[in-house]
Formats: sequence, structure tokens, C-alpha cells
Amino acid sequence: MKPVRVRFAPSPTGYLHIGGLRTALYDYLFASAMKGKLILRIEDTDQSREVEGAATSLINTLHQLGIDFDEGPGIGGEFQPYTQSQRLELYKYHAQKLIDSGNAYYCFCSSETLTAMREEQQVQGQFVKYDRRCLQLSKDEITARLAKGERHVIRLKMPDHRLFSFDDLIRDKVEMESSQSDDQVLVKSDGFPTYHLAAVVDDHYMQISHVIRGEEWLSSTPKHLWLYECFGWEAPIWVHLPLILATDRSKLSKRMNDVSVESYLTKGYLKEALLNFVVLLGWHTSDDREIFTLDEMCSVFSLDRVNKAGAIFDLTKLDWMNGHYMRSLPLETIAERCEPYFLSSGLDISNRDKFMKCVDVARERCTLLPEIVDYSKMFYAKAELSTEDKEIMLNADSQKVLKWFAEELPKAMPLNADKVQELTKLCTTNLGIKGKALYTPLRLALINQAHGPDLPNTFAILGDQEAIDRISRYVVR
Ligand code: GLU
Repeated sequence: MKPVRVRFAPSPTGYLHIGGLRTALYDYLFASAMKGKLILRIEDTDQSREVEGAATSLINTLHQLGIDFDEGPGIGGEFQPYTQSQRLELYKYHAQKLIDSGNAYYCFCSSETLTAMREEQQVQGQFVKYDRRCLQLSKDEITARLAKGERHVIRLKMPDHRLFSFDDLIRDKVEMESSQSDDQVLVKSDGFPTYHLAAVVDDHYMQISHVIRGEEWLSSTPKHLWLYECFGWEAPIWVHLPLILATDRSKLSKRMNDVSVESYLTKGYLKEALLNFVVLLGWHTSDDREIFTLDEMCSVFSLDRVNKAGAIFDLTKLDWMNGHYMRSLPLETIAERCEPYFLSSGLDISNRDKFMKCVDVARERCTLLPEIVDYSKMFYAKAELSTEDKEIMLNADSQKVLKWFAEELPKAMPLNADKVQELTKLCTTNLGIKGKALYTPLRLALINQAHGPDLPNTFAILGDQEAIDRISRYVVR
């Protein structure tokens, strides 16, 4: 068997799509399992969609997620360059070869002509495709129009009545009639190749063994097979991944859904959760296991367990998964990840001990990293109480409780969970006050709100002196 070489071939249009991450992840996992190579190729031949800096940010995002490449732009490799806009000569050469062999032809039709042609075909109920009117042009006419610098494209001449049949690793045998394929534009009027020509040429020269890509490319495969045949090259093994669907089974779209990986990271999803969620978009183990680290995925992943059916992008599941990782990753990891959110919200986290305890309590109750900051504010800020809460603090029982604690706590220092619990019991015994009447004034004093973590945790986070100060300031003398 040929050495396994797979490529992730994104177009640098501004962000990493969730579907792109899935392809990159499956590429990475397959390459790791097969001890093959993972190549990054930047497909930037559509100049109108290009966003500056997108390629670098894409590489950074994937690196941040733990997906690194063996070859690619800025990484190097035997088949450089890996950015298509730097390989234009190669595509030009191959387009010419196709023209010379009669497998491609010049087309001078304007966009108005093409639109009118399509409309007419639609009215007639015909399959919409180019009607090959430029295929009839004589050699002399073509030469003259090219010499005049007339705007043109180069089209692939698909064979007539040919049944293309290929094995897809996920879909098994696929058959498609050539009449269902348009004469694909291979070179655009700006001289840049389209995806179809550039990808086939590059996959060949970069010795790609398996083309792993989204199902949306399945219908293009006959065109690609035909290109391989015209060039006399061996085609790679095809692997078309299932579509990713929204919960209503419509196609996941940028307009309706957030599909940017960077945006999920910014929102405070953990990379472990994102990868774990994304790996399950179309793949599962026989025992339907849900939780995997990247290393675990590497050891169990195989392409033959990828489904044909569309995968549902269910944010509820992503949230559940994120909550799982918030609680199960080492505390230091979560603290490190939420530190930037604390800093940008202006909270003073110089007291490391307090910060760590706070994160530990908060992560049990939060789904996303920034929620930890919101939850923690009660331990950092001393907010003004509402008029109603102020009244509660002034009632006789509340005052008794607050005063009792303000006096007893200093004697019990250093505090710990057992001592706090003993003191609450003792307070009830001595003052005859329990339940809400006991806890509400204490919580309002300590954390400005009636609900929050249990008292031992609250005391532990605030620290003895801060807790005593917060209680004492509500004692009216
Ligand atoms: N540049 C194509 C895209 O971004 C790549 C498709 C492929 O993997 O062949 O969709």
C-alpha cells in the first residue's frame, strides 16, 4: 500500500469553519493511526473571497487545538510551495495540456449569455449545464479572439454517456453518469484555476493517498476522476464525510448558525470539549462512548466507523460536554484558561489562593469560562444591597446572627469547614435562629446575595479576615 498522505485544504476566507475543523481532525487522526503524513494546503485561488491573515490565523487556531501538520506553508516539506497562489504556473501548464489533448476548450461566453442560457434550460425543464456553444468555434476564430485579448475561461470537456464508478471509503460504491456533470470551468477569466483543476493537480503532485473532504464535493468527483484519467494519473482513495446539519436538519449555515471555531473559543468553550464534540459529528465507537481526549481519539479512530448519514450539530450537547470538561480538567488548567477573562473584567486576582478556590467552586456550576468570572464577582466586589435586602439585614434576628458571628469568628480563627459548620450549629443552639433566618443575613453580608455556595466554601474563598469584615460591616451598634 502507498504511504498514507492526507491533506487539509482550506480556503482562507476568514475563519475556521466547524466542518473544516472536523475534516482537519479526521485527517489528523487518520494520519496518526496510519503513521502517515498530514499536509496543510492553502487553497487561495478565489481571490475575491480571500481575507488577509486568514491562513496564519487558521494555522494558529489548529495549533492551539493540538492539530499540527507535517508539511505546509511556513512548515516546509518536499512538495513546496503549499499555497496555491504560488503554484499558478503548474496549473497553467496542465490547463494547456488539456487544451492540447482536446479535453478542455476555451469559452468566451459572457455572464449574460450564460444566465440567459440557464434560464432557457430551466424553462425547458432541462438539466442546467453549459451547452457547449464555444466547443463549435474554429481554431482560427479561437486564435483571433485570444489574440484580441477577449475575456475567456477554460472548460473541461466531460465525456458523453460515461458511467463514472468509484469506491468511497464511507459510501462504498458510487456511480454517476457523466451527463449529470457540467463542463466545469477549470481556469477563470482572471487566469486563476478553479478548485477542481488546482486540487487535482496538487493532490497528484503532493502524492495524496486519501482525499478526505465534505460530502458537498461528492458530485464533483466524476469531474476529478476524469481529470485524473486525462492526465494519466492514478486517482486517490475518496472519503466523503457526512454533511453537518442544524438541529432542524437544514444545512448548517453561516447566516443561521455560529460556525466559526474561533468564535466558540472566544465564547469560552474549551478546546478539549470542541474537539470531542466535533469528532462525534459523524463518527462513533461501537460502544457509543462519548468522552475522548485527543490521544484517546488517536488510538481508537478509524474511517470505517464514519457514518453516511448527516450529523446533527447540537449545541446542547456541546454545552454538556463543555460542562464535563470544566469539572474534570485539572483545576490549574481551568484557572489558567479563565485568567484572561478575569483580567479583562478588571477583577484583582493577585490573591492566588482565593482565585484558585473561587475557580474550583465556580467551575462546578458554570458551562463556559466567562461564566466563572460572573459567578466569582460576589467574592470580589462588595455591591450595594437592595432596599429590601437592607431591611432584612436590619431586622432583629438578622442583627443577632450577624453580631454573634462577628464576635465568635475571630475567636475560632483560623477557620476551616468543620469549624464553620460547628459555629452555625452553635449559633442556632444559642440564639434559637435557624434556616433562612440564619443563612440569608450571612449570605447577604458575605456575598451580597441570598443564594450561593455553601458557607464553608464561601468562608474558604473569602479568607477569614475578609469574611469577618464583610459580616461586621452590617452590624448596627
Ligand atoms: N478548498 C476546499 C474547501 O475549503 C477544499 C475541499 C477539499 O478538501 O478538497 O472546501
